[in-house]
Amino acid sequence: AREYDRYTDRTPNSADVAETLREIVPAGVCSTFRAYDPHPVHAERAEGASMFDVDGNEYLDFALNNGTQLVGHAHPTLTDEVSDQLEDGTLYTRPSELIGYAAQPLVDRWDAIEQVRFTNSGTEAVMHATRLARAYTGREKLIRMEGAYHGAHDPALVSKMPPVEQAGPASDPRPVKESQGIPDAVPEDVLLAQYNDPNSVERLLRDHGSEVAAILVEPACLNLGLVEPEDGFLESVRSLADEYNVVLIFDEVKTGVKLAPGGGAEYYSVQPDLVALAKAIGGGYPVGAFGGRRDIMELVAADLQEGVATGAAHYGTYNGNPLALRAVGVTLREILTADAYDHVTGLAEMLADGYREIAADAGLDAQVKHVGSQGMVHFTDEPIRTFRDWEHIDEQFHEAYWISMLNRGVIPHPHDASQQWTVSVQHTAEDVEAHLEAFAAIADDLA
Ligand code: PLP
Repeated sequence: AREYDRYTDRTPNSADVAETLREIVPAGVCSTFRAYDPHPVHAERAEGASMFDVDGNEYLDFALNNGTQLVGHAHPTLTDEVSDQLEDGTLYTRPSELIGYAAQPLVDRWDAIEQVRFTNSGTEAVMHATRLARAYTGREKLIRMEGAYHGAHDPALVSKMPPVEQAGPASDPRPVKESQGIPDAVPEDVLLAQYNDPNSVERLLRDHGSEVAAILVEPACLNLGLVEPEDGFLESVRSLADEYNVVLIFDEVKTGVKLAPGGGAEYYSVQPDLVALAKAIGGGYPVGAFGGRRDIMELVAADLQEGVATGAAHYGTYNGNPLALRAVGVTLREILTADAYDHVTGLAEMLADGYREIAADAGLDAQVKHVGSQGMVHFTDEPIRTFRDWEHIDEQFHEAYWISMLNRGVIPHPHDASQQWTVSVQHTAEDVEAHLEAFAAIADDLA
């Protein structure tokens, strides 16, 4: 309670803005995830590793817009290039050479990507990859991991962290809608497996294989904190997809270009058939992409023949707009270099080691995880390896940690125990030390 009072005292202008906005904008935010009590911190500007709020507070930002900004905020090279582009026009619905400028580094980074198309968000990337897999196989069902998040479109909002009382047994989960307004037919096509349990995937394929178009999975679950694949899990899913002629889609919206230059596919040495990307590929500009095997992607180019659809539609006025393409090309070609990966990986390791030491000294039940530029802490000793282990997470406790860190000028990760920190190319060792000092200052109280 003391930390909530402190938060309120530090953020009176944010409270005022929130109150005004709530009159004309539901919950005062533009993505429901962003609302929390008593009111969110309202941003004024962001630069480098810092975010500044409307009360003049500066935060060291390790949330980085849901991990989108591996390049940090307002990276000067990116800002210069995109500013140039502003003068050359912000939208051409004509194709341009910029498409290749942005596409080639994705083709180079992923063995699985032979062809790629651009979208405006991760939601669209996953949605189009799913449609494409259905078009390619002529089947409709989608295998997904219970509890995972894949965007805001209807099939992705089935059993995104459902209340377990409604979800049935782990061995036979019942699909639960996350939102009203999703037609009843949608969950009928979603089959739920458990992450890190290849048998659960195999069971579904044995029972429904001839109806399954795709298996959709994040190579590491970055919406369950940070859950890595256990040895053999992704390999088993890959071989099951082959055995049942099912398209394997990796949702690399969060893992892509962050776990390794070629995302989770490179990091874990398993290549999918299709990849959905967004977030970090654009350095903070709104963009997504889906790509993969040529024989599948070519169906995107097919159109209507004598009134019959022969391919998978992909349309959109803003798809591949020059601002986004320029941002992707600069980010991947000029900023996210091998040195940049060494930098973020080294600092992420330093941050995780520091957390482990502080938690141990304070006698806190905590498990600190990190991979590539990503990391986080689960405040429990119980293993978290799949959604059903979430019962061990005390979300209110995690919230107290998060608010207390904000009060000490650090946003440790996006709001919510299911999220993780990102270390950007603009963070320094001093920033990591300051993050650790803030954690050290609250660790005894948390314990
Ligand atoms: N897939 C995953 C794994 C995500 O984490 C997200 C967003 O957080 C999405 C898809 C949707 O991306 P977007 O918010 O750009 O629509």
